[in-house]
Amino acid sequence: MELSHRSKDFAKFMDKTEAVVRDLLCVPDNYRVLFMQGGGSGQFAAVPLNLISRTGKADYIVTGSWSSKAAKEAAKYGKVNYVVAKTERYTGVPDRSSWTFDPDASYVYYCANETIEGVEFHDVPEVPKGVPLVCDMSSNYFSKPVDVSKYGLIYGGAQKNIGCAGVTLVIIREDLLGKPQPICPTILDYTIMSKNKSLYNTPPSFAIHVLGEVLAWVKKEGGMAEMERRSVQKSKMIYTIIDNSSGFYSNNIQPRSRSYMNVVFRVGEGGGNEELEKKFLEKAAHQGLLSLKGHRSVGGIRASLYNAITIDDTQRLANFMKNFREENKI
Ligand code: PLP
Repeated sequence: MELSHRSKDFAKFMDKTEAVVRDLLCVPDNYRVLFMQGGGSGQFAAVPLNLISRTGKADYIVTGSWSSKAAKEAAKYGKVNYVVAKTERYTGVPDRSSWTFDPDASYVYYCANETIEGVEFHDVPEVPKGVPLVCDMSSNYFSKPVDVSKYGLIYGGAQKNIGCAGVTLVIIREDLLGKPQPICPTILDYTIMSKNKSLYNTPPSFAIHVLGEVLAWVKKEGGMAEMERRSVQKSKMIYTIIDNSSGFYSNNIQPRSRSYMNVVFRVGEGGGNEELEKKFLEKAAHQGLLSLKGHRSVGGIRASLYNAITIDDTQRLANFMKNFREENKI
């Protein structure tokens, strides 16, 4: 951790980490891999600061809290068109026939997995030809194969599926470099970061090290196809219990948009009972089932089934849910 980031050894370490990213996602040669800081929220600003200057306009497909925040941040730097109708209650990906794109948009933005609501795109959205597609993959990065060539830019904080907080992994197509707004802060400037191989300033070396170790493990376990197989299996185990609980557990997300990563549900007949949810969390914690509380903005329960959660862990949660229902149903 104390190696100079200007040393040859450090450069080798960076190259090795980039190589495993490229290998797992089959990143084409005309894309650059950047290790940045500032988290997903930093990217909410970096994306418009680097990409909106062509027309000053961008399309945002808002399907949950994180894409909503990204759209609000982008509106500071340009004109944002909401592709799908605005709503306070996110329950899935609205039908493609209702989407309206701005013909002048510099890019189309979406969030692949809305962590708070548990809404996931299971396909790459179809967008107007030639307009770069930008995607926030913070909470489903490296959970399934990705066709990078369909995107202009992909980013995600490492702290969910690929390591610990501190590094944000950006993959950008080369032709999108070189057009930042003049006000773009240097450390959010993809062109400068790329020219300096992510070493413009001191990088978060420990977080990059952990990311490299996690991805080496992912590769050893079978890579993207295996992570996807496990994610589908794990989420199905929990959704099946919800769907077979005669309303004791409920999930209000349209089935085709249900997240494989974040299974969000309420406990208690009639759409949720806060007292019962408190009891659920307490009892679960006694059994070592932790971090199940839903985001404060939506309440309820959220089971985050990231790559580090095993099938056995998920089975323990499933068993707990079955028993809890038996003990508490009306
Ligand atoms: N995007 C998504 C999908 C997230 O889940 C989060 C955080 O949970 C963010 C962005 C914000 O990331 P950060 O906390 O790294 O700024």
